[in-house]
Amino acid sequence: MAVEQMTVTVMEAVENNSLNLVWTVLDLELKAYAKEHHVPIIVDEGLALLEQIIRISKPKHILEIGTAIGYSACRMARVSGSHITTIERNPEMIEKALDTFKRSGFENQIRLIECDALEAFDLVKDTAFDLIFIDAAKAQYQKFFELYTPLLTSNGIVVSDNMSFHGLVHQDNYETQSRSVRGLIRKLTSYQDFLLKHPDYDTSIFELGDGVAISVKKD
Ligand code: SAH
Ligand code: MG
Repeated sequence: MAVEQMTVTVMEAVENNSLNLVWTVLDLELKAYAKEHHVPIIVDEGLALLEQIIRISKPKHILEIGTAIGYSACRMARVSGSHITTIERNPEMIEKALDTFKRSGFENQIRLIECDALEAFDLVKDTAFDLIFIDAAKAQYQKFFELYTPLLTSNGIVVSDNMSFHGLVHQDNYETQSRSVRGLIRKLTSYQDFLLKHPDYDTSIFELGDGVAISVKKD
């Protein structure tokens, strides 16, 4: 395609809003930042699943536990116009996330709660959530689940990321891992057991991305 033609095509895409250039650039920048600074943002495959769940279930309000640099929050906001409440405790991450939200064009859809998620319940308890995305300290997943699921609407969905803990959960070399890693693996395994046995939820665990658990609240 000639350059002039390509320019016209890009301009048309921008005009009819099928190409959000600001977000396209920021998306790449955030991925590069995460890689360079070892921030564990959601991997593409897990994100694709999460986005499809959002397209299908059209949640009005999403609660995210673990904002980091604001990558997944923006991706979720972008899919369906949902409102996102997202909780982060690390001041460095908070600063970066606020900058992300300001530049993303999704600022009006996203509320950042600057607090430890184990202490933030009172700050969000007046909102009903249709989807909760748990993606913070792996050892605390069950606590997050028990604390925040009372705010879930009927047929609400809980998505838990990193069920494979960067591939470590199902590896044979469990014995050779450090004590702390073994502790986390045990916690994640027992969380999965907790989800699968929970009488009020139907849970499936998918080994795509870094392992994603999807729990749907029963009627
Ligand atoms: N959801 C993000 C990645 C989150 S990484 C994305 O996919 O783009 C996990 C984040 O959770 C880290 O930034 C960490 O600081 C935060 N975190 C861990 N435990 C937390 C807690 N108890 N309360 C609030 N934030 C927590
Ligand atoms: Mg994650």
